[in-house]
Amino acid sequence: MLRILTLGLAVVAAPTMSALAADSAALEILPRVGWKAKPGITKLMKSQTPREIIIHHTSVKQQPKISLERKMRGLQGFSQRTGKVGKRKKPAWGDVPYHYYIGVSGRIAEGRNINYAGDTNTRYSTKDRVQVVLEGYFDKEKPNASQLGSLKALTVWLSKKYNVPADKITGHNDHASTDCPGKHLKVHLPAIRTAVTNAAE
Ligand SMILES: [Zn+2]
Repeated sequence: MLRILTLGLAVVAAPTMSALAADSAALEILPRVGWKAKPGITKLMKSQTPREIIIHHTSVKQQPKISLERKMRGLQGFSQRTGKVGKRKKPAWGDVPYHYYIGVSGRIAEGRNINYAGDTNTRYSTKDRVQVVLEGYFDKEKPNASQLGSLKALTVWLSKKYNVPADKITGHNDHASTDCPGKHLKVHLPAIRTAVTNAAE
C-alpha cells in the first residue's frame, strides 16, 4: 500500500516538480529578507503602477568577490542616507533606487517594492517604471552571459506579469542625459525586446 502510494505520488509530483524547477531555474530572485533589507521609508517614496521597464548599469566596476547580499545592504545604506552621486548631492531616498539588481554572478536580488517608483539623480520621471540594474560599468566592461540571461528571463517575466510591451523596455539614456546603461549593455536591448515579443506570442 505504501509502495503504491509512493509511486502514485512520484507520478503526480514529477511533472509539477520539473515545471517548478524550470521556472525557478529561469528566474530565481533573492528576496529582500534574504539580504536582510531594512524596511523602505515609505514617506520618501511615491506609489506607482508598473507599465514600463528601464535598464541601468551601476556605473561602478564589477566586484565578483563581494556577495550580492553585501552589495545590496551597502546600496541600501547609501540610498537611505543623504550623500552624493558623482558630484551631485542626493537626498535620502526611501530605499534602493532599483526594483531589481542583477549582480556580476547573474544572481538577481529584489530591491525596492515594485509598487513604489524608483529614485534617480538625473532628470526624468521614474513613475510607473520598473527599474532594473546590472552590476558593472558598461562603457568599459561588458555584461557577461549570466547577467544577460538573467536580464532576459527577468524582463520576459516582468513583461508578462505587468503587460509591458517590448517597445516600453528602454535604457536610462533614452530618457535622460546620462551614459547609463553603458554602450556595451545598450547594444543588447534590441535582443531583449525581441525575446519579450517572442514570449508574448
Ligand atoms: Zn541609470
